[in-house]
Amino acid sequence: MVGIAGLPVVDHHCHLSPTGEGTRAAVRFRDAGGTHLFLATQNYEGKVPVDLDAYRRQFETTERLAREVHEASGVVVYVVVAPYPVDLVGAAPGLGVDGALELQTKALDLAGRWVRERRAVALGEVGWPHFPVPPEIGEAAHRAFRHALEVARDVGCPAVVHSPDLDAEGWRRLDEEAKTVGLPPHRVVKHYARARLDPALGVGVVPSYVARRELVRVVVADPGPWFLETDYLDDPARPGAVLDLATVPRRAAAIARGSPSGAERLAVPFVRSVEQVYGLTPELEER
Ligand SMILES: [Zn+2]
Repeated sequence: MVGIAGLPVVDHHCHLSPTGEGTRAAVRFRDAGGTHLFLATQNYEGKVPVDLDAYRRQFETTERLAREVHEASGVVVYVVVAPYPVDLVGAAPGLGVDGALELQTKALDLAGRWVRERRAVALGEVGWPHFPVPPEIGEAAHRAFRHALEVARDVGCPAVVHSPDLDAEGWRRLDEEAKTVGLPPHRVVKHYARARLDPALGVGVVPSYVARRELVRVVVADPGPWFLETDYLDDPARPGAVLDLATVPRRAAAIARGSPSGAERLAVPFVRSVEQVYGLTPELEER
């Protein structure tokens, strides 16, 4: 594992699928200089889970993919599990809103157990739908999210948030929400951040930026913590829907080449932020 500029290279949020490119995408990531992936679970069965067993199978698939990726590529994989918040919308017609909320709650408890057992490093994705929903669904989603923050607090892990784009008020509200629950805001990561979080806002919640070239240029000198991600979906039906898994290493290489302080800057998303938020130190493994 070579990394870039002597540093590990971390994609903070991606998905892989047993029916997609899977380990081949991870090999491409490694060949570009990537060393560590945060692998978020996803629904692999083509339908919304309607019982806890479906979530258990889903998490186990993610765990198996993580192992396969490490064996095939040497890339270190951190597993992130939770019931997808949008599942609530799909489960409500069959289970009722209360039943769908109960399932989310139980699946969040299951995810918390996985973190305790060190089968996962964080809860994710948790949050609320990125599109308008009926008020009763919105309310249930908010209660599920509150529960997710409580579980993260109790097991002592980060919560990786799926939500619409946040404006200054949205960032502040999320920060407040974490504090209300007693979860330190730096343990809450807003994934798929598409605009810079102004450090002057004084918000402790952490952005995980989509690694688009222009955005990386704007945030690269920020003190952190912040992350880079592709949110790679590994869905053969939607090629190019998101950034390719090789993107973060490519951006890192450009930053390292671009300025004498490049390596120092890369240490923020790839080492220090992982330490601050997750309490983990990504290292370049001997292979
Ligand atoms: Zn995702």
